[in-house]
Amino acid sequence: MRILENSGDFGLVERISLGRFGFEGITGRSLEQVQDHTHGIHCSRERSRTAWKIIDEYMMPFVAKENYKISSSCRLHADNDLFRDQERHKIHVDINDWQCGYCKKSFRAEKYLDQHFDNRHYNLLNVSHGKCLADLCGALHCDLVIDSKLRKTKCNPAAASKNRHLCESLAGSCFPVSGGPSASRLHELFLRQFCDSHTCSGGPKPFSRGGKKQTSTIYIAISALTLVLLPVFYFLVYLQQWNMRVGVHDLKRIPRRKQKAKPF
Ligand SMILES: [Zn+2]
Repeated sequence: MRILENSGDFGLVERISLGRFGFEGITGRSLEQVQDHTHGIHCSRERSRTAWKIIDEYMMPFVAKENYKISSSCRLHADNDLFRDQERHKIHVDINDWQCGYCKKSFRAEKYLDQHFDNRHYNLLNVSHGKCLADLCGALHCDLVIDSKLRKTKCNPAAASKNRHLCESLAGSCFPVSGGPSASRLHELFLRQFCDSHTCSGGPKPFSRGGKKQTSTIYIAISALTLVLLPVFYFLVYLQQWNMRVGVHDLKRIPRRKQKAKPF
């Protein structure tokens, strides 16, 4: 187990234990047990997954829109996430059914499949230096995504500055300003999305330019509104038809009365 001084979002300095148990820490397990279990891999799968989700949600939609190809030297590139191949081999069959894409074995929960990957398929991990996506968590605001209460935590200027530096270096290597107009636009966007908020002097919130979730929120809102308005619409149509039927019925009855009245 390697204890790192990892600077979290908004400059929170935290001591986290890396390894398979990552951010949650290791409870009741000895150093040897964990090292043996993770086969010497010092990178949190959970935090790497969170970092990937953040990139996928708040950066990739813009990258796709610009039709920009991220270079493999950029640490955000899929090849630079040592868990990416395993994550791609997760099959979520049902709510309580996770399947291993390599050997088709089924598990009740994702965490058991994670353990299975660690035990059975660790040889498939793309282990090499600089491929731990969790190491970018400080720059990408993983802690804020994991626990939104951290927003209220006291800011640490040294950690904020360290995160900002890492963030800006990512923007520079992944979207170099010299790489053309698309790269320049994405460079600016990366700074707005992730780097500007690494300050203790009340900077903007992270992910200020939105991401995938925003469109889905709008979609959900429209769907909900449609679901509410649809019965109202049908009720109005029904009322109108009922009124028309009553009207026709009354019209039919009037001549009959007149016919009956004739013999008198
Ligand atoms: Zn398997």
